Amino acid sequence: MAKAQTFADKVAKAKSQKSAVCPECGEVFIYMKVVEPVASASGSYRFQRKMEKHCKCKNT
Ligand SMILES: [Zn+2]
Repeated sequence: MAKAQTFADKVAKAKSQKSAVCPECGEVFIYMKVVEPVASASGSYRFQRKMEKHCKCKNT
């Protein structure tokens, strides 16, 4: 018999992968790489890469 993946299974899997889960919809956050220009003290710019959490329930 095929095992249906329940919501609890999904959350457990997300937790085992150390992924953050959206408190509003319970879906696992998607990590998006964002590159931001950061002004340094000398007036030049450098680019800082960071991973940003994003959930599909928030259309921002
Ligand atoms: Zn969400």
